[in-house]
Amino acid sequence: MSDGAERRFDRQIRFAEFGVAGQERLGAARVLVVGCGALGGSLALQMTRIGVGELVLVDRDVVEWTNLPRQVLFTEAHANDGAPKATAAAESLAAIGGPTKVTAHVAHVDGENLDELARGAALVLDGTDNLTTRYLINDWCVRERVPWIYGGVVGASGLVMPVIPEHGACLSCLFPEPPPAEHLATCDTAGVILPAVQAVTAAQAALAMRWLAASAEQRATFETWLVELDVWRGEQRRVRAERDPNCPTCGRRDFRHLEAGGERSAIVLCGRNTVQIRPARRATRVDLARVLDNVRLSAERAEQLGNFARFEVEGFRVTLFGDGRALIEGTADAGRARAIYDRWVGT
Ligand SMILES: [Zn+2]
Repeated sequence: MSDGAERRFDRQIRFAEFGVAGQERLGAARVLVVGCGALGGSLALQMTRIGVGELVLVDRDVVEWTNLPRQVLFTEAHANDGAPKATAAAESLAAIGGPTKVTAHVAHVDGENLDELARGAALVLDGTDNLTTRYLINDWCVRERVPWIYGGVVGASGLVMPVIPEHGACLSCLFPEPPPAEHLATCDTAGVILPAVQAVTAAQAALAMRWLAASAEQRATFETWLVELDVWRGEQRRVRAERDPNCPTCGRRDFRHLEAGGERSAIVLCGRNTVQIRPARRATRVDLARVLDNVRLSAERAEQLGNFARFEVEGFRVTLFGDGRALIEGTADAGRARAIYDRWVGT
């Protein structure tokens, strides 16, 4: 390790359980953080501060004002611009400096691009806000035998669980089927507060440090727990998560969540009054300039901003990316959003 690195990371190296060996292993590791919002932003911040070698970020959304109370990497300027979260996060991380190489992807994670995003990752960190993506991560990580750390937060409470394939329980061992959406309290219905986000990501980041710093012998005896916490009431408890030999994912190795997709889809984003539309065929390229030309007479504030276009039409704000994916802001009605997409983008 260089003198500069030893000086920079001196205090965490002094922590005996971590040490120089831990810092060196951390500095050689690639970590994928899925989502750059509340959980993902805080995770990315911590991974950069502690000196992970390489950080891969991915997020599909853009920054808005209601993000600022808990999404630690974003500024008012990012919200004003409606900047894509992944690139805004990378910009803030670059200002911190340090040895971490950060790559940012503005994309919706699915079974097709996860291979590429997670390639070579020693660990995947869950910074998402939805179960669909978590089951996708679980399938991929169990199949590829890469550990991942689940984190979820609603209101003042949260859940954290490391998934070490073939070693402990996976997400499907505990919940073989995703619960129906209407049974879930979401950030939409229950709100969410920053201290809960920080408590969950602190627990995830500590587990990440422990895992990445561990020797092969330490990894073989790594204990996994499900931690439940509530920062409002000051409560925390951990329960043993037992592996289920009949688990569809890690038992029967049926990775059905990775195979889903391929059709045009509309997803209402958590807490956003926004719908994401994806075109049916992946790798569709949209001519952004042509779309802007077509809408110019009817739309306001139509402009191309780097690799995406934005315009306001019929009271909705549309952000269109080069791969045909669009965010329709101003509605939580998937049908209305599809109609806007068909009328104004029409791919
Ligand atoms: Zn399992």
